[in-house]
This record gives sequence, structure tokens and C-alpha cells, in this order.
Amino acid sequence: FNYLEKADPEITAAIKKEINRQETKIEMIASENFVNYEIMEAAGSALTNKYAEGYPGKRYYGGCECVDEVETLAIERVKKIFGADHANVQAHSGANANTAVYQAVLEPGDTVMGMDLSNGGHLSHGSPVNISGRLYNFVSYGLNPQTEMIDFDNVRELALKHRPKLIVAGASAYPRTIYADKFREIADEVGAILMVDMAHIAGIVAAGLHPNPMEYADIVTSTTHKTLRGPRGGLILCKEEYAKAIDKAIFPGTQGGPLMHIIAAKAVCFKEAMEPEFKEYQQQVLNNAKALEKALNAKDFELVSGGTDNHLVLVKLVNKGITGKLAENLLDDANITTNKNAIPNDPQSPFVTSGLRLGTPAMTSRGFNEDDVVRTVDAIALVIDNPEDKEAMNEARAIVRELTDKYPLHKKFRD
Ligand code: PLP
Repeated sequence: FNYLEKADPEITAAIKKEINRQETKIEMIASENFVNYEIMEAAGSALTNKYAEGYPGKRYYGGCECVDEVETLAIERVKKIFGADHANVQAHSGANANTAVYQAVLEPGDTVMGMDLSNGGHLSHGSPVNISGRLYNFVSYGLNPQTEMIDFDNVRELALKHRPKLIVAGASAYPRTIYADKFREIADEVGAILMVDMAHIAGIVAAGLHPNPMEYADIVTSTTHKTLRGPRGGLILCKEEYAKAIDKAIFPGTQGGPLMHIIAAKAVCFKEAMEPEFKEYQQQVLNNAKALEKALNAKDFELVSGGTDNHLVLVKLVNKGITGKLAENLLDDANITTNKNAIPNDPQSPFVTSGLRLGTPAMTSRGFNEDDVVRTVDAIALVIDNPEDKEAMNEARAIVRELTDKYPLHKKFRD
């Protein structure tokens, strides 16, 4: 912080505290990750100074020849990774990407199907408090009550009844494979466009360890900062026939100038996603999630759908007699960061919940292996099984300390 420290000590102090928080806690929020210093350098670069409304070669401002190179590299790389005809890398976030898709293919009032928020869907998939739910007529599908996996009979029934113009697949809290091929069959049966929001699983898809939704969907959206391990941001991939409408819906439809420094950081992330080490990382994310499933089961934790195929598990806390809110707070005290999450038929409100979402992407970036995950679960169980016991809390904190000391986070990126 050569410059910032002098100019703004308050902000510098807050950033330093955040770095220390990341260093000393185990990060288990499934949607978070740690980017390396290459990506931070690009994101913190002089490209933040440039206005570049429009697209490479067709800008509304002069002086865009260098940022054109950056954006073209980002576009070509991400198209190659996912086998897409067209890519838009300007979406400022995942929610913006989804909003732009709706603007591109729908009229206000059109019927759309999306996964219910309380069953694992995202706010931008039709929640009444989101612009998606306010502008369009979203019909929600959910999980099969027995298997707690996506109920394709229910999806098909609803699609035949409501005849949606668009079907949205993808989720924020779903521990199982998203079968885009099954959604495609249903979309074809009712003549709907299929969009898959792969925000959570994009890194696993890029590594070839989850079926690629672009093989079946017309449009795929994503964030770049979750399993994909890039800067905060969004992207849209699509078949050629939607390319013009998607680009128009991002700019001028819903955004102004693109964040060129973030697009540069996305391009770096895409380059890394094509390296063999990235596949090894994603395989370890999955191995760690399996280890998490087994270790939690061994400690009598129940999981939604019984387990996981991806990078996250959803813990049902009802048998433990504790709410999601209290579990999140207790774990935070033990230096393990998680988030409370609704579970199917949750008896508690969304602010309290009976579930906890746990993910392995961030801890794996730090270097954790399966044994470290088992130790982390020892700490989790100590805290949740003994909520009032100070000794148990101290023991859990000691386990966390041992693990965070073993894998210094920012030192790893510097070396
Ligand atoms: N889509 C899904 C499936 C998500 O899980 C999220 C974020 O959690 C988003 C979209 C929104 O992304 P952002 O927070 O970048 O707007």
C-alpha cells in the first residue's frame, strides 16, 4: 500500500483488517474464492481509466485500440473454454447478466420458469423482490420431496401447463449436477428458449468435470468470481442467433461503459482456466467436497439430497436442534465463515433458516486437502454439537489456527 496508506489511512486500515480476516479464518462460503495476484494486478490496473462504450472495433469513444485487444482476448478465450458461438464479457455481475438476457429475449409480462429461491434458485431467477420477478411472470419449480433433487416431472408438468417463453436452469444452493440435456428436452417440447445460469459451477464446467451446459442451452450466464476463480463479474455465452440481442441488451440496454480493468482480469482468469493446473484445482475442489460430505455424515449431520456432486453441501440442522443463523454465528466465532441457508420446507424464516451452505472452492485455493477438510469438520461439529461449551469453542479455534497457519493465504500468492 505504498500510495494508499498515505492518502487514505482509514481505508487502508479496513483493507488490512480484511486481509487479516481472510488469513485467519477458514472460508467456506460456497460462492467465494481467492484470486491470485496476477488477477488482482489486472483488476487494479490503469485500464480503470478508459471509457469504451460499445464493442471491440465499434466503440463510441476514441483511444480504444488497447482495450479492444483486451476485450477480444477475453471473448476468444471464454468462447474456446465453453464452446460458445458468441460471448459478452461486459456484464458487471451475475445478476446483471441475467437481467440482460431477460431484456434480450422477453417482453414484460412474458412467462418464464425458474428454480424456486427456497429450493436453491437465485434471486434473479424470478424472486418477487428482484426486477426479474417484478417484470416477468415467473413460475417456480423445485425439488422432488423424496430425492431433494430437481424434479423433472414437475418441471415438465409446469412447462406444459404454463408454456413459458424461457426456462431458466441453474442455482445458488444446489449440491447436484445440473442436467441441461433434460431441461433441453422439456424446452423443446414447449418451444421455450433455454438459459442455464452456471454461476456456481462454471469452474468445474471449464475443467470438464461437470457437463457443459453450452452443449444444450441457447444462452448460458455466469459469474466469474466463484469456482471460476476470476475477478467479481459476469458473462453471457450464446448461440449465434442471440448474439446481437444479447450485446444490445448489455449495452445500451442495461449498462453503460464496460469495466475494462475487470475485463482484463477476466481474460487472465480464462487463460488460467485452460491450464492443466486449473483442472487439478477443480478436481481437488470436488474431492474436498466429497470428503466434506463423508466427514459430516460421520458426525451425524444430515445433508440435502444426501450428499454432493459438486463443490458444496447443504446441511440440514433440524436434528441438531440449532438454527442456521445460530450455527453461522457460532462458526464465525470459531473463525469458520459460512452462510445460513434455507432448506426444503424450512420451518424457519429466511432470516433464520434451518440450514447451512458449505463449499470447498476457497479453502482448496488455499491448499486444503481431504485430511484438512476432515479436521475442519471436527471443528464444525465441536461448535455445533456443544453450542454453550467454551472449551469446545477453544478447541475448535485451535484446529482452525493450526490449519490457517499451515496454509498462509497471501504468502502463497506472493511466492
Ligand atoms: N446466479 C447465481 C446462480 C448465483 O449464485 C449468483 C450469486 O450468488 C448470481 C447469479 C448473482 O451474481 P452477482 O452477485 O455477481 O450479481
